[in-house]
Amino acid sequence: MEDVTKLTMDKLVALCKNRGIIFQGSEIYGGMGNTWDYGPVGVEIKNNIKKTWWKRFVQESDNSFGVDAAILMNPRVWDASGHTTSFSDPKMDCRECKTRHRADNLIENYCAHHHIENIIPDKMTNEEMQNFIEKHKIACPVCGKHNFTPIRQFKLMFETRRGVTEDDTDKIYLRPETAQGEFVNFLNVQRSMRAKVPFGIAQIGKAFRNEITPGNFIFRTIEFEQMEHQLFCKECDDDKFYNEYKQKAWDYLVSIGIDADKLRFKDHDKLAHYAKNACDIQFLFPFGFSELNGIHNRTNYDLSRHQEFSGKNMQYLDPVTNEKYIPYVVEYSIGCDRLMLAVLCNAYREEKLDDGETRIVLALSPVLAPYKACVLPLVKKTHAETAHNLQKELSKYFMCDYDESGSIGKRYRREDEIGTPFAITVDDETLNNGTVTIRDRNTMEQITLKIDQVKDYILDKCKY
Ligand code: ATP
Repeated sequence: MEDVTKLTMDKLVALCKNRGIIFQGSEIYGGMGNTWDYGPVGVEIKNNIKKTWWKRFVQESDNSFGVDAAILMNPRVWDASGHTTSFSDPKMDCRECKTRHRADNLIENYCAHHHIENIIPDKMTNEEMQNFIEKHKIACPVCGKHNFTPIRQFKLMFETRRGVTEDDTDKIYLRPETAQGEFVNFLNVQRSMRAKVPFGIAQIGKAFRNEITPGNFIFRTIEFEQMEHQLFCKECDDDKFYNEYKQKAWDYLVSIGIDADKLRFKDHDKLAHYAKNACDIQFLFPFGFSELNGIHNRTNYDLSRHQEFSGKNMQYLDPVTNEKYIPYVVEYSIGCDRLMLAVLCNAYREEKLDDGETRIVLALSPVLAPYKACVLPLVKKTHAETAHNLQKELSKYFMCDYDESGSIGKRYRREDEIGTPFAITVDDETLNNGTVTIRDRNTMEQITLKIDQVKDYILDKCKY
């Protein structure tokens, strides 16, 4: 077979819709911008991503503890973190087609198209961005005209209210990041788990941002899940842990099957005022290299701010040296949905087979595959009962699909498209000798196994 993969976002979106991976949010009402729903197949892949991440960053990490904090937090948290005053994007409206755009993205895309180097919007003021857009007559990506409003800072936090009055003191926010849930629980975790610095707090949870820019499928959405790990350490150890977490973040991506040659580190061009160091790992999406995750040395900024705003002492008392200090934080943050997009892009293949047909395969790492196996009776009438029983038995250990409709070739194709690594066929040999054939998704080669060896064979191939 020959690899003839030509991945576009449209192809991926269509496959996801047809195979129950991801649907447009609120589709029957015409959708809702930048929201997506995970279908029966997609939710399995996403859950598997979360399980591998938790295993790597909590279960297998020394001194690492998980939390699951509330989405709605005391609004003072967001004053302390700085989000209420400065979490916004520079936006411009197109006066012609009424669409809204991020000024920095307009410049970035323009420069990429025109091979202009050394222009870094992150380092520009709003005025400089505005002048650049005017000077180059940058066009609206939707209607092609150049007629923008001046840049305005657009707030990214979703506001809501608690209680029944319209009083401004009732205003609360949907959290725009999970990180604050880890910071506000620093004392609770340290005390209750008798944790000694260095230790980490991890969390997987939803975050919300009022993103206006069209999102490239699930790359940028208004509701998304983050997987974050905050490592609390002594100031003098910050560089060591920053480098350690850079490597750990990279190794994790490779461990779930992402090709290392589609990844690269990118140092931040402009550091936030509290950050000592910051970089992203970027992935080569069909629309170019873009941020997949961030690693940041946040110094002791967050805990110091919470100490200031809450009045609680955030210092750690070193039990050996009796030294008191506010720990530094090395943060590692990755969007689960963005990682899901990278996983899907990385796994998507189009292959021309020897018989001239083309198949689509999601060559997912078995640990991420939604179904680890499927059971296919060769002939429904004679083999369905045995096949059903086998599927029921295997389902006690892992997700196992069952399909009895259509030719065996068509059934293989459907399973290839959702990434099922092993297809088990039940035929006359099963009834006579107790053996089944197992077809490998990637090589399409088949082996014969005793039916009672199947479970262990598949568990072994799918372990992480
Ligand atoms: P970007 O520059 O893409 O807006 P960011 O630098 O603001 O991202 P962080 O605040 O560092 O992102 O968030 C950590 C991670 O959360 C990102 O690396 C990304 O994987 C994910 N993420 C952030 N915003 C979104 C979003 N709107 N939709 C999906 N994932 C997101």
